[in-house]
Amino acid sequence: MTRYLLAIDQGTTSTRVMIVDDQGQVVSSFHQEFTQYFPQDGWVEHDGMEIMRTVMNTMGQALNSLPTGVFPVAVGITNQRETTLIWDRESGNPVYPAIVWQDRRTADLCREMKQDGHEEMVSEKTGLLLDPYFSATKIKWILDNVAGVRERARRGELAFGTVDSFILWHLTGAQVHATDVTNASRTLLFNIRDMAWDKELLRLFDIPQELMPKVHACDHHFGDVEKGLFGRVMPITAIAGDQQAALIGQNCFKAGQIKCTYGTGGFIMMNTGDKIIRSQNRLLTTVAYQIQGKVAYALEGSFFSAGSAVQWLRDGLRIIENISETEGLARAIDSSKGVVMVPAFTGLGAPHWNPDARGTLFGLTRDTGVAEIVRATLESVGFQTADLLDVMQKDAHMSFNSLKVDGGMVGNAWLLQFLADIMRVDIVRPRVADTTAFGVALLAGVGSGLFDTVNKLSVFHHYSDVTKPEMLASEIILLKRNWKNAVKSTNYYAKK
Ligand code: ADP
Repeated sequence: MTRYLLAIDQGTTSTRVMIVDDQGQVVSSFHQEFTQYFPQDGWVEHDGMEIMRTVMNTMGQALNSLPTGVFPVAVGITNQRETTLIWDRESGNPVYPAIVWQDRRTADLCREMKQDGHEEMVSEKTGLLLDPYFSATKIKWILDNVAGVRERARRGELAFGTVDSFILWHLTGAQVHATDVTNASRTLLFNIRDMAWDKELLRLFDIPQELMPKVHACDHHFGDVEKGLFGRVMPITAIAGDQQAALIGQNCFKAGQIKCTYGTGGFIMMNTGDKIIRSQNRLLTTVAYQIQGKVAYALEGSFFSAGSAVQWLRDGLRIIENISETEGLARAIDSSKGVVMVPAFTGLGAPHWNPDARGTLFGLTRDTGVAEIVRATLESVGFQTADLLDVMQKDAHMSFNSLKVDGGMVGNAWLLQFLADIMRVDIVRPRVADTTAFGVALLAGVGSGLFDTVNKLSVFHHYSDVTKPEMLASEIILLKRNWKNAVKSTNYYAKK
């Protein structure tokens, strides 16, 4: 009899639930968008309970897609990382909206802590940087700004968690307050050498230990979906942050293997095996996974705006109606005619790390139309990836000639060609584009014992196509020069 795995992929803009069978075939997939709140410049929030409703809805739909009476043998959870929730242990209700990873409200605090000389210690322990991106200053902000919360946290009445933890809490009927090592490694509070919460960091950010979840390996049996929810107890045997799940879904289990995910943001991650590589270029060192007792580390670089810049064209600027129009518009013109977009809506990520930078559009003329702006927006995704790949090659002392890609944006074939061109690498797209959900489904299979080793997982990976570089070198040089100047100007404009 076929056995099934259920993956919950709680992303930044939508929640997806995927069912995968024991042969690694995707059986069904359902998703639901939820509301993005932008209460002030640089602030981004989600409603925790709305997120939970999307999880319940999509899980319900996925379970309904299975033959009557058949349930998954295991459930895995993957999630937008760093996004921070504090909730009441009694009611399960958040005390404040989720502060999303993109949120920059703690930029000043991070700047002060840097000026006070804390960054080296923080980086040494966590592999990260003192940036608002990570959870610690978001937790501190809630503790300092929401009335009564610090007191209640000290009394042990409240729980902190990234989104995985919040979902786990609710699915297990408030029985389990835990997270996995990959999510923990994005909080700025987790020591990636000791693989534990770090007392000195908790003190530095003034965060009570009572708030913190237990941390387990990614393939741990975290708890069970309580029977009351869907009529059947289902074991939760995998948790991994979205980028780490994508690394698993792309079958990057060996040191030196690399992938880039294009969703709301863009994320390059390279498996560095058991080695902790400290970047000379402000890339992050993070936990790739802990599976079957083995810890692997990764180098990571991310940029905050990829698909979100395209969404802005639709929802903010309203120059397109559907995201899918972008491919045709970009293809219809020969070049963006000198128009360059730096989509620093919420600051610039690696390797620039400028939380104060804001989006800019350069080179406008009376000729500039919708197509040029759309094309420049897609090109910005390529330029940002090229900047990252460049420094990652330096840090790892390796050069890459291909890049595995995934995420919502890789449906855009024009973008894939531009990526291949601007980086002069082969762009490899997997059969299952949704590697995040796929990865955590396979991981749940390992956690539950359905698959006995990760080596066996490679049989489930197939590649759908490879895009090869075509553009002339002279053209690449020109485009890259324009981009570099645009980033320089953007940083200059943001100077305080
Ligand atoms: P996340 O998991 O971060 O929510 P997804 O991987 O679901 O993101 O990708 C969704 C993003 O991809 C959206 O921001 C959307 O704008 C972008 N996107 C989807 N399809 C296309 C396309 N054909 N061309 C350009 N961008 C696209």
